[in-house]
Amino acid sequence: MPNLHLLGTGAAISDPHRTTTMLAVSENEAPHHTVVVDCGGDVLQRLQACDRPIDSVEALIVTHAHMDHTSGFPLLMEKVWLDGRDRPLPVVGIEPALAQADRLWTAYEPVHAGWEGIPPIDWQEVTQKRDAMVWNDGPWTVTAAPVNHGDTPNVGLRFEHQSGPVLAYSCDTAPSENVVHLAQDADLLVHEANGTPGDNHSTAPEAAEAAAAANVDRLLLVHLPPGDKSAALKEARATFSHTDLGTELGTYSF
Ligand SMILES: [Zn+2]
Repeated sequence: MPNLHLLGTGAAISDPHRTTTMLAVSENEAPHHTVVVDCGGDVLQRLQACDRPIDSVEALIVTHAHMDHTSGFPLLMEKVWLDGRDRPLPVVGIEPALAQADRLWTAYEPVHAGWEGIPPIDWQEVTQKRDAMVWNDGPWTVTAAPVNHGDTPNVGLRFEHQSGPVLAYSCDTAPSENVVHLAQDADLLVHEANGTPGDNHSTAPEAAEAAAAANVDRLLLVHLPPGDKSAALKEARATFSHTDLGTELGTYSF
């Protein structure tokens, strides 16, 4: 059975118990095929907190260049090296996101230049178009589509498990036709609810509209700003009743 792990559910600044939005997928039958999405914090510590070992990571997807989605990349590399990984680490994303991760790692070059046995980074570029292939290995087929995040190129994702279940992730975006496309008939839609209208993010009711338009089974709100979310949740449920706030470090089978 496939699982979603919400490794972080906050916006760049959020509540004391929510870190930046990062997620992973895994499955019970093959715990050594975890795919992680974004690293705007200590993503591997969060993965361990969800009972998935560091060595289970088969790929890292980076969605876009913003700090709250990429800034933990050098720490992730240090950790996989200390953990003894020797196989390459696939890092997958659109060109601007990969370039940002590469710059961050290169900034630490004076530190890691003498380290022995750092696992090779297998950069895999994703085309910025609808239904672009992201990852097709093990139980997962992952595709992407550009979303609407102002001047910053960004993609949403669709994860199809070989046994049928589907998960979609909006990433950071104002309301976007491509999110509805990615989420069509999905079991689970993880949608950001950071924003106020018109600021390159979505509100909770706008996320609910996407969930209803895509005919998904369940909506989880992430990228949550600080403060009370009860009014936003109530508004979202008025449009799409099966809506919940994402639980920090929550694991959801789907
Ligand atoms: Zn962003």
